[in-house]
Amino acid sequence: MQALTNRAKSVSRRPMTFMESLYLPSIFKGMAITFKHMFTKNPTINYPEEKRPFSPVFRGLHVLNRDEEGRERCTACGLCAVACPAEAITMEAAERVEGEEVLYREEKYAAKYEINMLRCIFCGLCEEACPKDAIYLSETFAPSNFTRETFIYKKQDLLIPNPVTQPSEFAAAKGTN
Ligand code: SF4
Ligand code: SF4
Repeated sequence: MQALTNRAKSVSRRPMTFMESLYLPSIFKGMAITFKHMFTKNPTINYPEEKRPFSPVFRGLHVLNRDEEGRERCTACGLCAVACPAEAITMEAAERVEGEEVLYREEKYAAKYEINMLRCIFCGLCEEACPKDAIYLSETFAPSNFTRETFIYKKQDLLIPNPVTQPSEFAAAKGTN
């Protein structure tokens, strides 16, 4: 029969010797390999208890930013959505009314803001396009889940905690505490 490759080896079919039939040399050989690995550095880590350091250019989950007074920075201009190559961002703009100056920095704000994390390729173009420093990619992952809907992040999932009313949560989100 014609061989498909030249890697075929003919197998010896001679009867086993007495020592081979005891399997002891093979067992010791296997145990030696096992013991050798007990003293070598483990290449895996115990995630999530243990985490590898991120690259300085790592881009993770998006955060909608607030200013130092806790007001939402986003003015719903749509530049991030236009810049997004994956068409992952959608939003609805609304006009700020009197009395809402403490909530929104600009006269227009995002009443609805969504990012589909299943589409997102974490390229960071939305962050670069934003003229208001209103969105940035953090060093966190989008946690795994079982349903597709949970990967559509709404505004309340993306907004950073308020630095005025939730200073410790804000510091934790920024990674400064
Ligand atoms: S990181 Fe890139 S793909 Fe993801 S939402 Fe921003 S622009 Fe779109
Ligand atoms: S995040 Fe920035 S670019 Fe996107 S709509 Fe808001 S202000 Fe505009």
